[in-house]
Amino acid sequence: MTEHNDGRAQARSKELFAAACEVIPGGVNSPVRAFASVGGQPPFIRKATGCHVVTEDGAALIDYVGSWGPALLGHAHPEVVEAVIKAARDGLSFGAATAAEVDFAELICEFVPSLRGGMVRLVSSGTEATMSALRLARGYTGRNKIIKCAGGYHGHADMLLVAAGSGAATLNIPGSAGVPPDAVHDTLLVPYNNAEAVAELFAAHPGEIAAIIVEPVAGNMGCIPPLPGYLERLREITRREGAVLIFDEVMTGFRVAPGGAQERFGVTPDLTCLGKIVGGGMPVGAYGGPREIMSKIAPLGPVYQAGTLSGNPLSVAAGLETLRLIKRDKPHEALEAATLRLTKGLAERAAKHGIAWTDVAVGAMFGFFFVAGEVHDYEEAKRSDLDRFAAFHSEMLRRGVYLAPSQFEAGFVSTAHDDAAIEQTLAAADGAFEALAGAAAS
Ligand SMILES: *Cc1c(COP(=O)(O)O)cnc(C)c1O
Repeated sequence: MTEHNDGRAQARSKELFAAACEVIPGGVNSPVRAFASVGGQPPFIRKATGCHVVTEDGAALIDYVGSWGPALLGHAHPEVVEAVIKAARDGLSFGAATAAEVDFAELICEFVPSLRGGMVRLVSSGTEATMSALRLARGYTGRNKIIKCAGGYHGHADMLLVAAGSGAATLNIPGSAGVPPDAVHDTLLVPYNNAEAVAELFAAHPGEIAAIIVEPVAGNMGCIPPLPGYLERLREITRREGAVLIFDEVMTGFRVAPGGAQERFGVTPDLTCLGKIVGGGMPVGAYGGPREIMSKIAPLGPVYQAGTLSGNPLSVAAGLETLRLIKRDKPHEALEAATLRLTKGLAERAAKHGIAWTDVAVGAMFGFFFVAGEVHDYEEAKRSDLDRFAAFHSEMLRRGVYLAPSQFEAGFVSTAHDDAAIEQTLAAADGAFEALAGAAAS
């Protein structure tokens, strides 16, 4: 078993992190990567294949981060890599229309229920997708206010950095310095899984709310599924109020079902935001919906949105091949079975060692909290024992399992996580829980 956190074994990562901290703020290009909330310091990754990442220290770790979601088919899937190499030989970017992006847009619209018969615009990140969808919703309705959930994360646009999840939750900076009060003046907050709070806001601000943006399965306050009826109720309220329902499926798209959470739960939003898996590991985001709304975007309409590298051939090649493989191989049933095997196995072992624990699995996405009983929103997620999470994280890493270094993130299973990988993970967890129980007793 890999003793990853052994002082000597991590020597190269330590050296690299020290060098990185001199030239990159915090040594990282995105905050959660710094391991600030779990202690220790981040392993540097040299390469990744299948369900493993290989560190600069030579350890092969079973990876449940999956590049924070994109790696549904495992790392370096040969057919995806081949498609990217082939595209690269023909030029990296033209800033002009291509045949492949038409195929890609058609396939995205085929997968996602709310996009069937509609349109989709490609951008380069999930952040761009959500900020553009909100601009469009505001332009379409002529209203300014938007609603988001506490603990929801929709990228780092100014207007969305209020009670934000993911790294902002991890570092306990749910707002952000540098965001002018005016930028968030029109952002209204509700707890996740509470449709009545949404109805109350509409009653308090009649005719002023353009949209609600929501993760249909929350994944940035830990993983929290929607309560039965929640998404349906949001659909009813927004329809009645003439507001735009935006599902941020950047994480859930192609992951909780081929057509995302909207397919799994049978609730169709007006606009859908995509990212992560849609790019197959390359920078891609997308937002789309019915023609009537999407035709407000420039050059058809007055809502401006653009991008030099939007729809670039490499990103499109990776995304298109990924979606083609999902369509061909239909992996979701097996993904869900593997994910359930993992979470059930973890729960059994936590119980065996007397560890308070609750877990969630939705399709190929999972989460767990160190607290007894179900978790329904961000306030409840914060009751998880964060010290225990940190200890569990390093015990797992020491045993060769790479989990997201924050309680407020989801975990991801890929098609490359075979039975052996799951069993190895459960064996590691058994040891980790035993260490936790021992520490609590002593
Ligand atoms: C990751 C994520 C984003 C942001 O996407 P980036 O590509 O990191 O900009 C937005 N919304 C959700 C739900 C996400 O999980």
